[in-house]
Amino acid sequence: MLDVSKTVLITGGSRGIGAAAVKKFAEKGWQVAFLYKEQDRAAMEVAEETGALPIRCDVTDRESLKDSIKAARIYFGVPCLDAVVCNAGISISGLFTDMTEDQWDLLLRTNLEGAMYTAKYALPDMIRNKKGSIILVSSMWGETGGSYEVAYSTTKAALIGFGKSLAKEVGPSGVRVNIVAPGVIDTDMCRMYDEDIIDGLVRDVPLCRIGKGEDVASAICFLADEESAYVTGQVLGVSGGFYI
Ligand code: NDP
Repeated sequence: MLDVSKTVLITGGSRGIGAAAVKKFAEKGWQVAFLYKEQDRAAMEVAEETGALPIRCDVTDRESLKDSIKAARIYFGVPCLDAVVCNAGISISGLFTDMTEDQWDLLLRTNLEGAMYTAKYALPDMIRNKKGSIILVSSMWGETGGSYEVAYSTTKAALIGFGKSLAKEVGPSGVRVNIVAPGVIDTDMCRMYDEDIIDGLVRDVPLCRIGKGEDVASAICFLADEESAYVTGQVLGVSGGFYI
C-alpha cells in the first residue's frame, strides 16, 4: 500500500545506504527530500530515478542545514516532516596515535554533530505536531568498538547515547527516535578495504555475506513507519549477525 501523504528527509542520500533509503521510501509512495555534500552527478541520478528532491547541503554547515530542513518542509507544504534519517557520514581509519586533530574534528562534526543538529532543527515542528520519527544511522563499530577505527567508532557510539536519551525526552511529545547499526555494507565507504580484508570480515558474518544498502534501507523504513509505532530508543543491528 502506498503511504501517499508521508514525508521524509534523508541526509547523505546521493550514494550508498542513503541512496538505497531514498529509493525504498519513494517505492513506498513517500515524498522524499535528501541532502548531499558535493557529488552532484550521483545526486541527480538518484533524483531522476525516484522523483526525490535533492538539496546540496553540508551537514557541518549549521545555517545551511537549518535552511535546508525548512526548505524541504515548505516544498512538501506540510507543518512537519514525518521522518528524518540522519545518515550522512564519513570514515577515516588509522591508528589512534596517528590521527590528526583535524581528522578527529571532521569526524565529530560530520558523524555526530551533523546528526545531532539535523535532529535539533527538525524536532520543534515534530513536537508541535506531536508526531515524527527520527532514525540515526550508527554502526556496529559504535557498539563493539573497532581497532583502527577509534575516532569513527567513538562518533557512532555517541550517536547511540544521543538517540536513547533523546527518545526518552521526546517520547511524551509523540516523537520516536531509533538507531540502526549496520555491519559491513557494500558501498563506496567500504572501497577503502581490499578484497582480502572484506573476505576476512565476511567469514565472521553468520549470514555469510556482506550487506547491501537495501538491507539497511528496509530497517530504516520499518523504523520510520507506523508499523514500528511502539518502538523507540532501540538499536536495530543490520549486520548479518556479525555483532550480536
Ligand atoms: P557513502 O560514502 O557511500 O555515502 C555517504 C553519503 O553521505 C553521500 O551521500 C555523501 O554525499 C554524504 N555525506 C558525507 N559527508 C557529508 C556532509 N558533510 N554533508 C552532507 N552529506 C554528506 O557511505 P555509506 O552509505 O556507506 O554510509 C552511510 C552511513 O552509514 C554513514 O553514516 C556510515 O557511517 C554508516 N555506516 C556505513 C557502513 C558501511 O559498511 N558502509 C557500516 C556502518 C555504518 P556526497 O555524495 O555528496 O559525497
